[in-house]
Amino acid sequence: MRIGIDLGGTKIEGIVLSDDGSEMARRRIATPPGTYDDILVAIRDLVTGLERQVGAPCSVGVGTPGAISPATGLIKNANSTRLIGHPLDHDLERMLGRQIRVANDANCFAVSEATDGAAAGAGIVFGVILGTGVGAGVVIGGRPIAGAQAIAGEWGHNPLPVPFDDERPGPLCYCGRHGCIETWLSGPSLAGQHAALTGHHLDAPGIAAAADAGDLTATALIERYCHRLARSLGTVINVLDPDVIVLGGGVSGIAALYRRIPALWHNFIFSEPAHIRTRLVPPRHGDSSGVRGAAWLWPKSPDPA
Ligand SMILES: [Zn+2]
Repeated sequence: MRIGIDLGGTKIEGIVLSDDGSEMARRRIATPPGTYDDILVAIRDLVTGLERQVGAPCSVGVGTPGAISPATGLIKNANSTRLIGHPLDHDLERMLGRQIRVANDANCFAVSEATDGAAAGAGIVFGVILGTGVGAGVVIGGRPIAGAQAIAGEWGHNPLPVPFDDERPGPLCYCGRHGCIETWLSGPSLAGQHAALTGHHLDAPGIAAAADAGDLTATALIERYCHRLARSLGTVINVLDPDVIVLGGGVSGIAALYRRIPALWHNFIFSEPAHIRTRLVPPRHGDSSGVRGAAWLWPKSPDPA
């Protein structure tokens, strides 16, 4: 059996999966407010508790914000700043006395959906998180692609492609650049655009519900969101040519995305519009994909790595 750990800023979730993907146990704890060492102890206790519950030793995979830098071996780019600058994988291996695998949380999402989710069986999968931030993971043949800088899939910090005049230079991003895809397509950005137009504060599902109820402002805003995401995914298709793109995160529940974006993205894809085979799909495992994908970092098939 395999344990997956999803390490978040407010909670740490652990799951045990059997070989067929059945959930054998699940525990969730609040992320301890103290030091980095307190987080390590909490993960160790979660793993030992889950193993006691299922009565067997398990492999351990961990999904984390940010990534382990191939250059330094230390966590970088994490919004949970207590992790930054620490060798999380080595520290956990020492505490747990075994080899573990650590991957970015968007990569874990993509692994989950590629293994037994909405993209099961697909060769090349691009798994997108549209949430507080915008990121993505690339999975080829069931394995996550980390990359030379461990930033494969971090297209949320590319500039919005084919910008209109009123989209230049775009909002300032925390990364220091203007007009990053994330600044246009994150959940908070969509809510902020709606609030700026209406004075009403709705989240992404609320805006979609308003559009469904006939609200013209919400309808136009979601259409514009779809156009921006179609432009952003078109450039991904030209580079990676994925079989399936899976959307996750809080914005991915908007049904219009799956109808409108494939009707728009052919304008930005270097291929005959009638023969675009890339599928755009909602996630199968929803909020559980992060923790399930962490477990699947140890895949079922014999592993050459
Ligand atoms: Zn950025």
